[in-house]
Amino acid sequence: MTDFTMTINGTAVSSASTFGVINPATAEVFAQAPACDRPRLEEAMAAARTAYLTWKTDDKTRRVVLREMADALEAATDRLALVLTAEQGKSLGDARQEIGHSVVWLRYYADLETPREVVQDDEHGFAEVVRRPLGVVAAITPWNFPIALATWKIAPALRAGNTMVLKPSPFTPLTTLLLGEVWRDVVPPGVFNVVSGPEPLGTWMTGHPATRKVSFTGSTAVGKRVAASTADDLKRLTLELGGNDPAIVLDDADPEQIADSLFWGAFVNNGQLCFAVKRVYVHERRHADLVAALAARAQAVRVGDGAEPDVQLGPLNNKPQFDRVRDLVGDALAHGAVAAAGGKPLDRPGYFFEPTILTGVTDGSRIVDEEQFGPALPVVSYNDLDDVIERANASEFGLTASVWSPDLDRASSVAARLDCGQVSVNVHGGAVRPDLPFGGHKWSGIGVENGPWGLHGFTELQVLARPARQALSGN
Ligand code: NAD
Repeated sequence: MTDFTMTINGTAVSSASTFGVINPATAEVFAQAPACDRPRLEEAMAAARTAYLTWKTDDKTRRVVLREMADALEAATDRLALVLTAEQGKSLGDARQEIGHSVVWLRYYADLETPREVVQDDEHGFAEVVRRPLGVVAAITPWNFPIALATWKIAPALRAGNTMVLKPSPFTPLTTLLLGEVWRDVVPPGVFNVVSGPEPLGTWMTGHPATRKVSFTGSTAVGKRVAASTADDLKRLTLELGGNDPAIVLDDADPEQIADSLFWGAFVNNGQLCFAVKRVYVHERRHADLVAALAARAQAVRVGDGAEPDVQLGPLNNKPQFDRVRDLVGDALAHGAVAAAGGKPLDRPGYFFEPTILTGVTDGSRIVDEEQFGPALPVVSYNDLDDVIERANASEFGLTASVWSPDLDRASSVAARLDCGQVSVNVHGGAVRPDLPFGGHKWSGIGVENGPWGLHGFTELQVLARPARQALSGN
């Protein structure tokens, strides 16, 4: 692999030291990434602060630049997809899809109309609500969708007039570093900076006095630390955190009909998706059939190195995550669960785990109560709908949920009782779109991304009030 450099003030910057990046399909280091030290972070912050003074003034330019960023990213899809697969593990098709998704987000925000919000304009006076950018945004992303989740921040933050210093996860820094490279000639210097490195780089960024907003996607545990680090300075904060998303299958749902969609709602990206289905509750009359239908799909999935043709699911991204999934599945099996499919690591190098369907589990077991973030799905039976709604809500998390039934009214009334940021009927994650807000309730986050609501998160309100023109002219 070629050299990977950071982007600071529009130029390529390397570092005194580097760290190894592992291909999860082989468990071997295949590239080195720069480890940003304190002086280089200071340069990035200073560049972002200076660039902000000009960037915030011209919305027309910002729209043009966002469109150019979309075009440049689209043109670089093949190159970036290869690197994304190598560092993340997902299939090449999924990597291309992730980059395509990011292009869509950039174009959506380039084209988003931001109408003036005039509250009063009459003979008594004029009052307008103005949304002003915040300044330098410190953006921090996880390893599951490094490019898509970064773009959820980059596009609205830049469109709103902020500048950014972005830091990817040390497990997947390379594609994000390439983003900086791809946009070096497109974005004015200092507007978009990319740094990489292990902790304490993120801590330096969230605590940095130049940072006016922290936009963080990652685990709830780290999100809480990030929130604490912003308190002293009263920095603005958006947190997109973990989930334990339930799917509730009603007694009139047809298991065979829903199985494909439900399966991929759980196993997309090998289950490493914040809003993947993490636990299925199915009425006891449908339980056996649904377990069989999901198990058949799990056994048919083609698992392998994402760079090989026709592979559907790759390895888990990293060793700690692999260990976590193995431990959670092992704990469930040790406590009486049955693996209707899978249940163990694949016998090959890399962090591969069999797509696993677990039955004989219920609330109170770790695999049901915790976020597994991997290819292992517990299917829990219930017989009382009110009770299962309570169980679905009895979680510290509240990211997304789904309800499955041919009776859309009945499903919608169940959906309305679920405590989470998004709930969809007969599909999971069906409302994750550029034009709809995405965010979690409870421990799943603070604030939202996407749509005009996501853009508003990168602004602060200002009221502009003045007397009526007639008052000045004496009429
Ligand atoms: P993580 O919290 O371990 O790391 C996320 C990012 O934070 C990484 O870039 C990491 O280097 C950085 N970081 C670590 N310690 C930090 C600190 N003290 N200060 C500042 N930054 C720090 O999460 P992860 O393991 O990379 O990602 C998986 C988690 O992310 C899961 O819990 C998943 O649910 C969550 N996630 C949430 C969403 C969402 O939109 N809600 C999306 C994707 C992933």
